[in-house]
Amino acid sequence: MNENIKPILEGIFQTGPFPSLLGGYCPACRRKYFPAPAVCPRCLMTVRSVPLSREGVIYSFTIIRTKPPFGLPQPYAVGYVDLVDDNLRVIGLLDHEKLDRLSVGREVTLSVAPIGLDRSGQPCLRYFFTTKERGGGI
Ligand SMILES: [Zn+2]
Repeated sequence: MNENIKPILEGIFQTGPFPSLLGGYCPACRRKYFPAPAVCPRCLMTVRSVPLSREGVIYSFTIIRTKPPFGLPQPYAVGYVDLVDDNLRVIGLLDHEKLDRLSVGREVTLSVAPIGLDRSGQPCLRYFFTTKERGGGI
């Protein structure tokens, strides 16, 4: 991966061989949030940054075929993914190279790659969820 390409936004995910989203955790409520709020919306305690589960299940999704913003691929997909271990539903891009494999209930894994452009028109890293392949492949 090109080291010069920066995340679309600092602090919302970590890169590396096993990337993950960075959520907020409230120790009082024992709840996680994504994106991380400054304080817990339930009790106003400061939340701490925690890596979230990389594994999820597609709750809902849509494929967008109109001209995409920010240099995103055309078509591309956006969906809600349930991170079961974190009791959290997050929104994100889905793998645009596997649109034909997307379905509600499908197991997905978080990934990070250079996709599209940032606000200044530079290539940037974005998180997305890709389908888990049966049979041991990635
Ligand atoms: Zn709380």
